[in-house]
This record gives sequence, structure tokens and C-alpha cells, in this order.
Amino acid sequence: MKKRGLTFKVITALLLGAVAGLLLNLYAPDVFNIVNPYLFVPLGQIFLALISMLVVPLVFLSLVLGVAGLGDPAKLGRMGIKTITYFLLTTTIAILIALSLAAVVQPGLAGDFDLEAATFEAEEAPSIAQTLMNIIPKNPLAAMMEGNMLQIIVFAVFIGLALTTLGEKTKGILNLVEQGNEIMMYLVGLVMKFAPYGTFGLIATAVGSQGLSAMQAMGSYMLVILAALLIHAVVTYGGTVFFLAKKSPVWFFKEFFPAMTVAFSTSSSTGTLPVSMDIAQNKLNVPKPISSFVQPLGATINMDGTAIMQGVATLFIAQAYGLELTTAELATVVLTAVLASIGTAGVPGVGLIMLAMVLSSVNLPVAGIGLVIGIDRLLDMSRTAINISGDAACALYVAETEKKRELKMEKA
Ligand code: ASP
Repeated sequence: MKKRGLTFKVITALLLGAVAGLLLNLYAPDVFNIVNPYLFVPLGQIFLALISMLVVPLVFLSLVLGVAGLGDPAKLGRMGIKTITYFLLTTTIAILIALSLAAVVQPGLAGDFDLEAATFEAEEAPSIAQTLMNIIPKNPLAAMMEGNMLQIIVFAVFIGLALTTLGEKTKGILNLVEQGNEIMMYLVGLVMKFAPYGTFGLIATAVGSQGLSAMQAMGSYMLVILAALLIHAVVTYGGTVFFLAKKSPVWFFKEFFPAMTVAFSTSSSTGTLPVSMDIAQNKLNVPKPISSFVQPLGATINMDGTAIMQGVATLFIAQAYGLELTTAELATVVLTAVLASIGTAGVPGVGLIMLAMVLSSVNLPVAGIGLVIGIDRLLDMSRTAINISGDAACALYVAETEKKRELKMEKA
């Protein structure tokens, strides 16, 4: 009953924030400029800081606990292979849905876009090889200070394995980790009490500061992305939950919805981790070891919503510039978008920076990003909600297969 109340409050806050932002944007932009920095921004930023504060300790402690709880290193390897295969496959499906829709609807031909004015300075995107090589933290404390999720995951796995092997000798540390994890979960619950206010502020700022006329011109681009996100959620994730995890997709989305609203308002998969892990463990009944391994990994390397945006944006830019892509080039787009999804950090706006990599791989003008950047904030919110749903669906699927395996072993 208590949780229901919170979900209801968060959704109400989301709607109120959107209405407040929209009305001020349309009828009183001056009032918005006063209210925004003194009310909306502080509310949003305080909430963001509160949940971000918990991410690093929570991921570290719960993953150490998870790996130690697995008991068997082989289980970790099996889970890792399943998870990464699932991530790669679903990201490929996501980008194929995006490319097909964008090829049929052709949003890049839906208006006259000012190509001369479009500019974008591509930042140096980290190379994928570099990201992969860097996953072993030379300095684990530095990794925690920077919030380098992949490095934190690797270090936690090592510590967890050591605790399993050393058993009785390190029982004290294991207890400490357990208690630390309890503290973090308690704090997640506490911080979430502020969620309705934070959501209100974040949404009001996002909606209020969007150029609404810009949104009209980009209407069909936005609709294609939103449609592709919806199709992917219903078909791919719904299918995963129904066929692979043998659960009801309606139940899944209903229970997971509060996490999706937090992802929507914060635009950060990583920032949403405390909430998405809490719901996966306590509402979707995903065992802790699986949730604390799959979800932080997914928040870092699995971004289906981002791949969808990149697929649609690539075709949109090609169409707007009157350029055709060959089949081989389309295959390159699929491959680079999957890689870009791995390399995209789960924080706001990075997907757009990684789009530069996808565009350059097929020699499309990177300046084209200038066409879509103005309306990216609202799309970022939507794709982040999808990004984290993919991680939760995967956790549910891994949990089901592990359960089946255990049952089989017991019988044998
Ligand atoms: N904001 C997205 C996320 O955190 C990443 C992106 O597409 O920019 O999942």
C-alpha cells in the first residue's frame, strides 16, 4: 500500500511538472526564467544528487555480496555469457526495428531542414577497444571516485570471489558488506520519499526549456523514435518476459514502472540503479546475486533505447542531406550502433555524442547532429526508461534459467 502511494505520487508529479513546464513555456517564459533556477532546478538537482550519492557504494556492496552468495565461480561465468549474449542480441534487434521504421516513414524528408545552420563539434568519443582494455582498475579507489562502473564491477567480482574462497577466515568482512548493503537499501527507500518533488522539478525544467516550435518541425523524427521504443519494449522485452522468463509482461511493466519514471525524469541509467535494483529484487523477485550483477552491467553496456535513437538519427540525417546508404553501409551502422551502445555511459546525453561515431563510420556529416540536438532532451528521457527496462528483463530471464537449472540439478 505504501509503495503504491509513492508510485502514484511520482506519476502525479511527473504530469504536474510537464503541465507547469508547458504552460510557462507557452504563456509566461519570463516567469519560467525566474522560477526555473530557484525552484525547478534545485528540486531536480537535489533529488539527482541524493540518488547518485548511493550508486557507487550500492553497486559495489551488493555485487560483492552477490558474487560471494553465488558460491560457485562457474555460475558467474555462465551468467556473464548469458547476460552479454542477451544484451548484444536485443541491441541488434532494437537497431533493426529503428532502421526499418525510419526507412519506411522517412522522417528526414518530412520538412525543410536548415542544413547550413547545423553544426556540431564532435567530442573525442572513447574508443571501444580502449573501454574494454580499461575494465581492470589500476586503482580501485580512483575507479570509485570517478564512478567508473565497469571497473567497479570488476573489482567487486574479485573481492566477492576472494570472500567465497576464503570462507570462514573473512566472515567478518562478509558480515560488514551485508550490513553495509542493508544500510544502502534503507537509504534508497528514504531518498525515494523525495522522488515526487525531484521528478516534478526535473520534468518542469526539461519541458519548460524545450523550444516547442523546434519540436513541431521534428515531429516525425520524434514519433518514429518513440514508436520504435514502444515496439521494442512490447515485442522484445514483453517477449523475453513471457517466453523466456515465463512471467506476465503486464505484471513486469506494472511493477517496474516506478523505476521507468525515475529513469525518465533523470535521463540516467546509472543514476536510476538504486531504484531499478530495489524493484527488481523486491518486486520482481530477482535473486540479489543476479540483479546486482546484471543490472549495473546493463546500465553501463546495454542501451537499446540509445541504439534506436542512433539508428533513426542516422537515417534521418542521410535523408535530410539527400544521401543514400548502401546495404553494406547499413550493416556498418548496425555494428557501430551496437558498439556505441556498449561505449555509451549511462548518463544524460552521451548517446548523442556517440552518434558521431556511427555517422563517421559511414561518412555521413557529423554536423547533422546539430539538427537533432535541440529536441534530444525529451528523447533522452524516453530512451533511458527503455534502456533500464532491457536490463531488468534480462535479469528476470537469467533468474528463470538459473532457477530451472537448479531444479534440474536437484532432481538429478
Ligand atoms: N541517457 C542515456 C542513459 O543513461 C544514455 C544516452 O542515450 O544518452 O541510459
